[in-house]
Amino acid sequence: MTNKNKLPTEIVLTYKVKHNYDLKDLPTEFIKIAQKAVDIIWKNIDWKETEVKHRYKVGNKYKYYKTIRLIPKIPKDKDFKRELRNYLLNGWKFASHYVDGAIKVSYSTIESWKSNYMEGIRSRKKPTFKRPFVRVKNTLIKYDKEKREVRITIKPREEYLILNIKDEWFYERVKDFDIGEIILKNNEALITFKKQLNFDKKVAIGVDCNLKSLDLYHPEKGWIRVNVEELHRIKRVYDVIVDKLKSIYKKAPKRIGRLLRKYYNRRKNRVEDYINKLTSQLSKLFLNAIFIFEDLDKFNMYDKNSNFNRSLDRTSWRKIAKRLEYKSIVFYVNPHYTSKTCPVCGSKMESQEGQVVKCNNCGAFNRQFVGCFNIFKRGIKLVKKILGGVGVPVSGVESDDLLPNEPRGELSSMKPNPDVVYIVNLNGKTLL
Ligand SMILES: [Zn+2]
Repeated sequence: MTNKNKLPTEIVLTYKVKHNYDLKDLPTEFIKIAQKAVDIIWKNIDWKETEVKHRYKVGNKYKYYKTIRLIPKIPKDKDFKRELRNYLLNGWKFASHYVDGAIKVSYSTIESWKSNYMEGIRSRKKPTFKRPFVRVKNTLIKYDKEKREVRITIKPREEYLILNIKDEWFYERVKDFDIGEIILKNNEALITFKKQLNFDKKVAIGVDCNLKSLDLYHPEKGWIRVNVEELHRIKRVYDVIVDKLKSIYKKAPKRIGRLLRKYYNRRKNRVEDYINKLTSQLSKLFLNAIFIFEDLDKFNMYDKNSNFNRSLDRTSWRKIAKRLEYKSIVFYVNPHYTSKTCPVCGSKMESQEGQVVKCNNCGAFNRQFVGCFNIFKRGIKLVKKILGGVGVPVSGVESDDLLPNEPRGELSSMKPNPDVVYIVNLNGKTLL
């Protein structure tokens, strides 16, 4: 992943607006060329035979079976794309930017098919579009903030669709936002609003993702623990079902395949629902926060195993960070030794029994506290580098008060979703 820490960071919101404009055959024509693009890309996919190992659990043991699978390589080079574009433009009667939108749609459709195919949830069947819609590129949209009018070019210098948003219920929320892409359908438009975040008076919060908790370090409130055992439980429930189904897969591949898809989907929905609530709550609790996460992709190079034994699985962790990006600012730092570096003197620490890590100079600390604190410290450096050292309160960080050996505070449950957030105050008082 590149440019993760590129500024400015945006908030993106999408709203639905009704319209009575007669789009005539634009949506159907758009879908036609998007489908054409899919067809052509599909034809040019390079399939490579690869042996794949599948794993399922019986009791406490894993069992394996192998299958041969065809792994797709999607053509993406410039020449291919240029040729595709020229071909699709042939006979196209609307603005040519719609063709670019259609190509984008076709690629993202094939990419999402591919990731499902790789997970085994979809078969090797070409994706098709069912309902007509139009993806409108930014270049076709003009937004008059004063008149509160959104103008979409259908045919250049000839035909425009105008949406007025001043009476829409969401107008107040987006009045200082810019407009991003629009999805156009007969009778309705989905408008994306974007706003670059303002960095004044931000607080950096370090987030360490552990198996059963997110541990946060807040420079004023200290060590905060967010219980995520429920997420763990949801996943386990479905994993057990999925493993059982996989173990009998060969007996009735079609029927069990259907059941597998059903439970995969249910698992996905419940996990997503949980992550949505969790991140909403975090962003509301810490309105001005920049959340600092470890950069997952760097784990490949470093102490991957020792870290992942204690961690949430990669996908959930990534999802939490990604979802939070929609609601707050998220920065990523190098994860190298975050749970093994002494928070006081910076030397490497040894793991002890349980959650304890020990520095030869400074004594013992709780590993999860050390994790989020070090992530916070790295985040401060990064935030300062990017923002020129403005606006992040760091006072008190050096103070001994903020370096607890163990959680000293009482755990107290939070409203409105009591099983999600617990707050620990370092001085034994309950915060928030
Ligand atoms: Zn030390």
